[in-house]
Amino acid sequence: MTDCLFCKIVSGDVPAKIVRESDRTVAFRDINPQAPTHVLVIPRDHHPNVAALAAADAELLAELLREAGQVAAGEGIDGTGYRVVFNTGAQAGQTVFHVHAHVLGGRGLNWPPG
Ligand code: AMP
Ligand code: ZN
Repeated sequence: MTDCLFCKIVSGDVPAKIVRESDRTVAFRDINPQAPTHVLVIPRDHHPNVAALAAADAELLAELLREAGQVAAGEGIDGTGYRVVFNTGAQAGQTVFHVHAHVLGGRGLNWPPG
């Protein structure tokens, strides 16, 4: 999608601090981090949210989650713990409608989230 911010990060038209890449995914640092580690993992293909991705390509969703785990290991937070979040829809705070897993950690995380 030409006017999608995260499609532009995939294509390289918008710069990002890339942490990790696979054939079908890209992981990069959130521009407004909410924790010491805050990385977004996205599929290269455009899907608007996690439910749409699950319906369209379950294997790609599995790869996205494997990559989220690899990001956590690479950041050294797999032992202490981390959270994977898919905000879905406006009321949940989704602002970019290209599915992305937030990988958050490096400090104690409150539960329930706000
Ligand atoms: P959400 O609100 O769940 O849709 O998450 C979108 C996330 O994208 C927010 O945490 C933003 O800080 C982040 N974000 C927006 N623009 C950029 C960008 N150019 N590079 C990296 N992260 C971004
Ligand atoms: Zn997109």
